[in-house]
Amino acid sequence: MKTFPMFLKTSGKRIVILGGGETAAQKCRLALKTDATLVVAAPALDLELAGLAATGRIEHHRGPITPALFEGAALVFAATGCRGADAGVAALAKAAGAVVNVVDAPELCDAFTPSIVDRDPLVVAIGTEGAAPVLARQVKTKLEEILEPRLGDFVALAGRLRDAVAQRVPQKKRRAFWRWVFAEAPRRAHAQGRERDAAKLLKEAIEAGGAPDGAIAAGMVSLVGAGPGARDLITLRGVQRLQEADVVFYDRLIDTEVLELARRDAERIYVGKTPGAADWPQDRINAVIVAAAKQGKRVVRLKCGDPGVFARGAEEAAALDAAGLSWEIVPGVTAASAAASELGRFLTERDAVDTLVLTTGHASRDGTPPRWSEQLKPGVTMAIYMGVGAAPEIQAELLGAGLPEGLEVEVVSRAGSPDAQMLRATLGDMARAVAVSGVANPAIILVRRPKPVSLSLSRRAAPRAVAS
Ligand code: SAH
Repeated sequence: MKTFPMFLKTSGKRIVILGGGETAAQKCRLALKTDATLVVAAPALDLELAGLAATGRIEHHRGPITPALFEGAALVFAATGCRGADAGVAALAKAAGAVVNVVDAPELCDAFTPSIVDRDPLVVAIGTEGAAPVLARQVKTKLEEILEPRLGDFVALAGRLRDAVAQRVPQKKRRAFWRWVFAEAPRRAHAQGRERDAAKLLKEAIEAGGAPDGAIAAGMVSLVGAGPGARDLITLRGVQRLQEADVVFYDRLIDTEVLELARRDAERIYVGKTPGAADWPQDRINAVIVAAAKQGKRVVRLKCGDPGVFARGAEEAAALDAAGLSWEIVPGVTAASAAASELGRFLTERDAVDTLVLTTGHASRDGTPPRWSEQLKPGVTMAIYMGVGAAPEIQAELLGAGLPEGLEVEVVSRAGSPDAQMLRATLGDMARAVAVSGVANPAIILVRRPKPVSLSLSRRAAPRAVAS
């Protein structure tokens, strides 16, 4: 190492920033995270810095730069935007004994600012000694995914309870206690926004003298929406659950990219329903999930799109309820949203379509096909899941009910992935266009029936070529 990582104390100290423009403002934003008194020395301040000065959050020093300015400074940033001026003021600050960072002049720096992941009081600093700033950013992004946004509040809560833990939890149980706090129910509850539950769990455990027996073994199932397939279309909470899981049960439409977000040593079990092939019946899926959770494993049930949309989530949840196991839903981007985004279209548009219907192309268990026409009222966008195979039936039913041949139909397959395909047709031509284009599953059909009197509405052109 050519630099040594340390955390500088800022309480009761000053951070001096030399310069009043955007570069200085950038350093100021960083320094504002601390409790130091911020002094910005410049003849004039840009709008942002002037605003901060007006509210008293920073002090504006207009006078000459003298050694007195650097007294009691934890850190000095030279950020005037002029190399010569930076070098001059940096020399003065160094002579006054300050630790100096000069923007874009590593040779003049005593210290460098790392990439920061801020979950104050948990702070992660990442540095590469200038060798690979892009890698530092990648590491930062990974950590941002793993460390939930509210984690700082939870760490602060744990910090406030440290003395109580030291008094009530015997030394030999303390490590297990903290492991439970940060890896199990308390942290999970907090991450889900149940701060009060988290605090209650912690306080009860402290009063009881340790983590509850079997708490680590208590299975928990997260029904996680993986989104439409792209790795960057799953939520941060979903990634976090994948990182925590001991076992991941996943479906046919789950992309390997998304599965890779799971912990390396997590078990991955395929429970997909491949059309026409030997199948995982729902009862068996329920049984294996329940069994894993009962063994105390942290279980993720990964479903494509959103777990609440055509994903048989309710049946799995009922099985978990029956076994007395806890579960949660982590939402995901459903295929209708992903398809609209591929098309650059909006699922609702003021005055034209104000109702969104999510429906299926599949017949119900008794064999009755859905009556799409009953739902497709004026003002409706209808998203038909599992519908491309039934395109002729859908078309016939809608036309049979008197819907106009000219209605706009869009079909998107593999929405959200680089090989997404789009097709635009009219209701009268839908089945033929689907057959000719060879548009394949997984695909969603969007049918739009605007209200009769619609204002002229602008619309973005589809970003990719449209086959028909
Ligand atoms: N829970 C999922 C739906 C599962 S049902 C969700 O919320 O999206 C499976 C159907 O979803 C497929 O037949 C197809 O109609 C649709 N689907 C899933 N992923 C898709 C994708 N990437 N692009 C288009 N349609 C998709």
